Parts: sequence; structure tokens; C-alpha cells
Amino acid sequence: MYPTEVIIDRSALRQNFRAIASLAEPSQLVPVIKSDGYGHGIVEVARAFADAGARQFAVFRLEEALTLRRAGITQDLWIMMGLLPEEAEEANDAGFRIACPDLANARMLSQIATARKRHFDIHVKVDTGMGRLGILPETVTDAVRELTALPGLRIRGIFSHLANADSPEHPVTRQQLDCFRTLLPVLPDSCCENHLCASRAILHRYLPELPYIRPGICVYGAPEFPGLQLDLRPAMSLRSRIISCKPLPAGANVSYNCICTLKRPSLVGVLPVGYADGYLRELSNRGEALVRGHRVPILGTVCMGMVMVDLTDLPDAQVGDEAVLLGKQGDQEITVWELCDKAHTIAHVVYCGIGTAAAAAGQRHYQN
Ligand SMILES: *Cc1c(COP(=O)(O)O)cnc(C)c1O
Repeated sequence: MYPTEVIIDRSALRQNFRAIASLAEPSQLVPVIKSDGYGHGIVEVARAFADAGARQFAVFRLEEALTLRRAGITQDLWIMMGLLPEEAEEANDAGFRIACPDLANARMLSQIATARKRHFDIHVKVDTGMGRLGILPETVTDAVRELTALPGLRIRGIFSHLANADSPEHPVTRQQLDCFRTLLPVLPDSCCENHLCASRAILHRYLPELPYIRPGICVYGAPEFPGLQLDLRPAMSLRSRIISCKPLPAGANVSYNCICTLKRPSLVGVLPVGYADGYLRELSNRGEALVRGHRVPILGTVCMGMVMVDLTDLPDAQVGDEAVLLGKQGDQEITVWELCDKAHTIAHVVYCGIGTAAAAAGQRHYQN
């Protein structure tokens, strides 16, 4: 019997990959599996997406790519952070695609490659308006010329990232899309692995002519995209069990800070799951759990490792009953969107928090 666990449904991951692949055809998916596969487990998600047809993956750091190789993942791996000097030799041996955020970094890579009589395949990052990594658009022509002349580098593509992808009409989005579009014709023919779109941009179908897309959150099944009929299914669920159950009188206080005073005589259940498990403290007095196929409210402040639920309307509830905090039970479902709305955050935060906490505790399991 588990007290608290996270279940990852591999068949949902495969289904999501295929749904996005058919939407974006003929663009190829480069699923983004950084940050332990958004909390789903980097190696397991790579295997699931590979089973569904993935030929390459994007990670952020070298260490993530090495983890995948050690686990036997043979697909092409793209390192979106780029490399630090001390990482370059190991990455060079492994033959990864390397993001290059600026010219100084490119010169470093060139030196290391030439000293070893080898080369790096690079994707040049262009900052079209995100204000994060990348060279500025007005320098791209000169930079590509200089990089092409540097020995030991092969510029395979350019890429960029949108700051506000969900707002097609936002001036920054328009300007970023226009900017990227106008850069493409000035690139040498060999620079053909160009990519821009993450999940939201993919669903909006921006620049569908680009050969690669970088879906993250949507391949984990968090769509919520009005107007698009896409067969996406969340892969992660979080469930716990009632470990204690007792009646308390009206007027009694539940949990820290006295923000919950019972209005009626109540049956109060305790679940061994809290913010240390990624169940956000912002869900205090607001979240719900599924018990015996019904929604029950969270009572009071979410503690580090426990949370209380109101079982008054389920008089048969007892110790050992399952309580679902994210996912389905019977015909009820608590979606990641519901948690995001209540906690004022995004699905990425919820998944990373719940998934990595469960992995660290040995409580993340896989099915299908
Ligand atoms: C994380 C990330 C993505 C994926 O973003 P989603 O919104 O989860 O699809 C794509 N590209 C870059 C550069 C990223 O850092």
C-alpha cells in the first residue's frame, strides 16, 4: 500500500506525441525533456516519446544529455543552454547539437574543436525579443559570416524563443515572428535546422513551414487550448490515502494560522501529502481532493507533509481510502488547470514540483 505517490502514464505521453506530430506535420518534433522531463522522469519520457517515433530531444544542460546516453537513448540530443568551456570536450565526443548564445562562446567552441581536429554542430540562438540568450537580430548576418569562417564549427540552424507566444496580436509576438521570418532567407543553405515554436506557438500554428518544433508542456498533456480539438491527455497524477479521520465540533480550528474554523460538526481526514510533495501551499483552503468519487474541500493551510480534507458529506470515508489530488477518480477529475487557477501559477510549475519531489522520495511510478 502506498501512502502518497505520483503515477506517470506512458501511454498518455505516446498519445500526446502522436497528436502533436499529426498537427504539426511535416515539422519534426523535438520534445523538450529538460528538468527531469518536466518532473515526469527524463529517461522514461525519452523512451516513451521514442516509442512514439521521436528522433531527437532537447535538453537544457550537458549533464541531462549524458544521463540520456548512459541510459541507452540513441536519438540526437540538442543542448539548449550551450556549453561551458569545461564541458566542451565531453560534449564534442558525444556529438550533441549545441546551442550557441554568442560569438565569444562560438570562438571557444571553435578553438576546442580545432585543437581536437573535430567539429561542433551548432544552432545559433537569436534573441528576437525574449531578452534572454542569443545574438541580436541585426548582427545575425555578420555573425553567421564570422561563424562560417571559424574552423571546427558547422552552423546547422538558428533558433529563437517567443516571450508571449499565447498572444498572437501582441506587438512583441508579431515583431518576433516577423524578425525570425526575415532572417531565414539570408542564411546559408547548410543552415537549415531552424526552429522557433514551443507549445503555445505550435498550437497557434506560427511559422508552420519551419522543419522543427520544440514542444514541452503539450506533450505532457496540458493543452487547455480553446478551439483546438486535440487528443491530449495528462500523463501525471498524484494520489494519497487517508491516514486519520476524526470528528471535530463546530468552531474547531484546522491547521496552521487559524484560517479555517469549522462551521458545522465535521469529519476531518488527514492526507500525508503537502507542499514538500509539490502540492502548493497556495491551495490552502482552496484546493479539493477526490475521495470515493466525490470532491471534498481542503481544510486550512497546506502543511509541509500533510493536508486536511472535509469528509463530513462522506460519512463512510475511512482510513486507507484513496484521495486523488491531481488526476482522475471515477468520473471526476482534478486537472492541472484547476490547480493553476487556484494557485495562480502555470502547469510547468505544478508538474516540476510534484514530479521531482516524488522522484526524490522514491514515490514516482510508471504504468502502461
Ligand atoms: C522550455 C522550453 C521549451 C518548451 O516550452 P513549453 O512552453 O513547455 O512548450 C521550448 N524552447 C525553449 C528554448 C525552452 O526553454
